[in-house]
Amino acid sequence: MADLVINRDRLLERHRLMASFGDTGNGGVIRPALSDEETAARSAILDLARERGFICSVDPIGNLFIRRNGEQGNQAPLRIGSHLDSQIPGGNFDGVYGVIAAFEVLETLEDRAISTSVPVEVVIWNNEEGARFSPTTMGSGVHAGALPLDQALAARDTNGKRVDEELARSLEKLGQLFRIGLGTESSGYIEAHIEQGPVLEASNTPIGVVTGIQGIIQLQVTVSGEEAHAGTTPRSRRRDALFTALDLIADLRALTTDPDDEVRFTVGRLSVLPGAPNTVPSNVVFTIDLRHPSEKILETIHAQIIEVAATFRTSCHIDAVTTLASPPVCFDADIRSLIETSATSLHLKSAAIASGATHDAKFMGPLCPTGMIFIPCRDGISHNEKEWAEFEHMVAGADVLLRAVSKWASPDIAN
Ligand SMILES: [Zn+2]
Repeated sequence: MADLVINRDRLLERHRLMASFGDTGNGGVIRPALSDEETAARSAILDLARERGFICSVDPIGNLFIRRNGEQGNQAPLRIGSHLDSQIPGGNFDGVYGVIAAFEVLETLEDRAISTSVPVEVVIWNNEEGARFSPTTMGSGVHAGALPLDQALAARDTNGKRVDEELARSLEKLGQLFRIGLGTESSGYIEAHIEQGPVLEASNTPIGVVTGIQGIIQLQVTVSGEEAHAGTTPRSRRRDALFTALDLIADLRALTTDPDDEVRFTVGRLSVLPGAPNTVPSNVVFTIDLRHPSEKILETIHAQIIEVAATFRTSCHIDAVTTLASPPVCFDADIRSLIETSATSLHLKSAAIASGATHDAKFMGPLCPTGMIFIPCRDGISHNEKEWAEFEHMVAGADVLLRAVSKWASPDIAN
C-alpha cells in the first residue's frame, strides 16, 4: 500500500490532451456543455476507457459513466468524477481536474490489478457550469431527482438550441454506449476539484478535506418611492428610492459583517428607474445573495434581513422577496475521515474546508455517503483563463483519491 500512487506522467499527458479541446490560446478553454469541443473531450476519454476494457454508459440527461467492475458485479458502484464543460471562457482545472484524476485512479487500479469489492465508476456530469444552459449542475440535479428531466431537456441556450437536440447530436459522435436510468444507486461519491478560493494556498496546504457546501439564499428587494423634479423638490418632500436602497444596503452590510468572515453577502444587481439624470428615482430593485455553511446561521441572518427591510424607517415602500433557498450540504463524516487519513498516509498536510462554490457533489450528498477533495489554485482565481493549479498538487489530490477509493473498495488494502 505504501507505494500505491498514480502515474504522474500519464496524469500530465491527460491534462494536456484535455486542454487541447476548446483551447483559446490564452491558457484557457471555451468548452460549453454539449458543444463540439466538449463532445471531443468526452469522446477522447471514452476512447481511452474502451481501450482499457471499461464499460461506458450514458443516462437520459447525458451524464457519462465509466465502470471498472468489482468482485461482486451487482453491487452499487463507488462513483468518482466531476465535469468537462467550462465557463465561456474558463480555465483548464475547474471540473476537468476531477475527471482526469478519477480516470487516473481507474487506470492505476487496472495497472496494479487491484480488485475492488464494488465497481468503481468515473462520472462525467453534464452541464455543471450552467454557462450554456440553465440551471447549473443540471446533470447531477436530474440524476438526483431534484430537477425534472423534461424541464432540463427543454432548456435552451442563447441561440435557441435545446438540450435534447444538442444531446442527441453529441451522442451520435460518442460511439456505442450502454443506456442506464436516472438515479442509479451509488455506494459512495468522491469528487476532486480545485478550491476556487485562496484558503489552501495561503496556508500552504495541499489537500482540503471538504466539510460541505454552503447554503445559498437569494432575495429580490424592491424600493418604491416617487418621481420628482431634481431641481425644485426639497429634501423633506422627496421619496427617493435610490437613497433609501443605499441606506438599507449599508445597514445590511453592517449586519452581515461577521468577525470570522464566514458570511458571504453580495448585492450583484441594482436597477434604478426612471433612470433620468434630472428626476428623483422612484423605483429601485436590487438582489441579495447570502451564503453560509451553517443552516442555522443562514436562517438567522435571512430572518434578520427580512426584519430590517420590513421595519426600515423611510417614506418609501420596501418589499423583500426570497427567490432561492438552498440549504447547506454537510458531507459524510466517514468519507471525510477517509480522505484525511489517506492524506496522512501519503505524508500530505490536510485541512478541513467548507466549499464556497456549488458542485455536483451537492446533489450526491443526500443520495449516498459523499465527500470532496480540494487542491489549491493560484490566488484563488477560477472561472478565468488564468486559473492555475500546481502539478504537484494535482498529483497529491489524485494520490489521495486513489488511496481513499482503495481503502473504501478494496478488501485487501488496509492502510
Ligand atoms: Zn467545477
